[in-house]
Amino acid sequence: MDCLFCKIIKGDIPSNKVYEDERVVAFYDINPECKIHVLALPKKHIESADHVDETNSGDIAYIFECIPKIAKLAGITNGYRVITNAGSDSCQSVNHIHFHILGGEKLPEHIK
Ligand code: 5GP
Ligand code: ZN
Repeated sequence: MDCLFCKIIKGDIPSNKVYEDERVVAFYDINPECKIHVLALPKKHIESADHVDETNSGDIAYIFECIPKIAKLAGITNGYRVITNAGSDSCQSVNHIHFHILGGEKLPEHIK
């Protein structure tokens, strides 16, 4: 399958990792939209939030368990925003579900 984030997970494409365990990986966005911009994603290939169902919702719940840890490891200390884009109108550009963790500074109301 030709998925950029699956290639990053396999190590075929390098990334600047913040956190990794058997189910989740988090790395810095290559094109940060604010001071600290991390992407957290399941290692399991799930296309988007629109493809979450009873077979994979455990992986998504688990990411939300990891997000506070990931934010701390990335150096975020004063709050953050979590965003996921799903489908064409949202401008999702990589079809492997991922959660943008945005912080490190006061964010504008509209970002990502
Ligand atoms: P989306 O637009 O799908 O919600 O977010 C995709 C994100 O992946 C974008 O913020 C983009 O900058 C980031 N991205 C795209 N290619 C790469 C890459 O090769 N490495 C990293 N670290 N981030 C990437
Ligand atoms: Zn994938």
